[in-house]
Amino acid sequence: MAMEHVTTLECTLCGTEYDPDQIIYTCPEHEGVKGILEVEYDYDVIHDNFDADLDGNIRSQWKYKPFLPVHDDAEVVTLEEGGSSLLDAPNLSEELGVTTLIKDDGRNPTGCFKDRASSVSVTKAKNDGRDIVICASTGNAAASLSGYAARGGLDCRIFVPGDAPEGKLAQPLVYGADVLAVNGSYDEAYDLSMEATEKYGWYNRNAAVNPFQVEGKRTVGLELAEQSAVRGEVPDWFVFSMGDGCTIAGAWKGFREFYDLDYVEDTPKMLGVQAEGASAIHDTFHEHDDIDEIADTLADSIAVGRPRNTIKACRALKESGGTSLLVSDDDILAGEKLLGSTEGIYAEPAGATPVAGVKEARERGIIADDETVVICTTGFGLKDTESAKQATGDAYRVDPRIEEVNDLYGEAQPAAADD
Ligand SMILES: *Cc1c(COP(=O)(O)O)cnc(C)c1O
Ligand SMILES: [Zn+2]
Repeated sequence: MAMEHVTTLECTLCGTEYDPDQIIYTCPEHEGVKGILEVEYDYDVIHDNFDADLDGNIRSQWKYKPFLPVHDDAEVVTLEEGGSSLLDAPNLSEELGVTTLIKDDGRNPTGCFKDRASSVSVTKAKNDGRDIVICASTGNAAASLSGYAARGGLDCRIFVPGDAPEGKLAQPLVYGADVLAVNGSYDEAYDLSMEATEKYGWYNRNAAVNPFQVEGKRTVGLELAEQSAVRGEVPDWFVFSMGDGCTIAGAWKGFREFYDLDYVEDTPKMLGVQAEGASAIHDTFHEHDDIDEIADTLADSIAVGRPRNTIKACRALKESGGTSLLVSDDDILAGEKLLGSTEGIYAEPAGATPVAGVKEARERGIIADDETVVICTTGFGLKDTESAKQATGDAYRVDPRIEEVNDLYGEAQPAAADD
């Protein structure tokens, strides 16, 4: 049952260290504010155990098992998450005026990035002998956890805001979870899930209190680092949307680890993008005076009023030399349409938010002409077709008569004969 590569859990607020084999969500030294724990590793042990070829062949994130905070002999609960492609995006690059690649994480088993984290936490819960896992979610974490709980044979209970997109409520139901649609905001659903955790002792996957969640998210950084090493070029920017801030924090931690281990020669600057209506991490990073706790954006996956991982997210932005910016909902929808129509990649609004962010960063001169950008599209578009329709407008309605097609396209030329 060794987990010798994990040394301590260190509080991001006060620095107190805890034994990684205790189940601790947050540092008990603080009331109200959460002292989120950072998982610390012994990189000599990781280096010794990690003998994978850095050849760019990444079947799943478990290629990086020596980096993940699970016991060596843990039975892994996986649907082959991660290993997402790094795609050239020549058409989008032209539109944005900068070389852009896409790390397409909408291709994960449940359609979003969060599978990287769910696989790790369900693996841990199962190996701890837990049979009930729970989380609060704007939708995707719930769907993801439900899928992995089903895979691992655990019961799953999830707390979502009652106005989550229909698709996101249907998905966990199909995976057999109990779905508690809370009449209230995400923040209220979150608080209720925390109360339930305390009362019933269920295993809680909430990314911001469960320190192991971010750890699974690191694999996107490890992968991009490996893919960069294979391409022979580290991108200048790695771009994410931010809700609670765990995703960008994990991505940075992973990339930096590969750099520290000398597997790759440089690191990218992290660009975090938030919606204008849910801007708390951005406001904190830029030291704005009043930080709005409302969350008003159609990009539901990043509609977070009180982000739980602001400290880790700001640290990622700062350490990497990056920054954050805001985009409007209209920009996000335009980004969704642009991504789909230029590259055939269909992302949900939060997944397309980085596209809007890069456009904005280009206009403001934050990203220079000669730089290279990697956008991570974190969620698949079919998760939220309502927003997609707002982005695109409606289909043409036609009667089944060729004249109606003619009305659209004019008199057609006769099809050219082959001979
Ligand atoms: C959860 C989520 C995010 C944001 O991740 P955080 O860790 O909350 O910052 C972005 N995009 C999608 C699709 C998500 O589901
Ligand atoms: Zn503390």
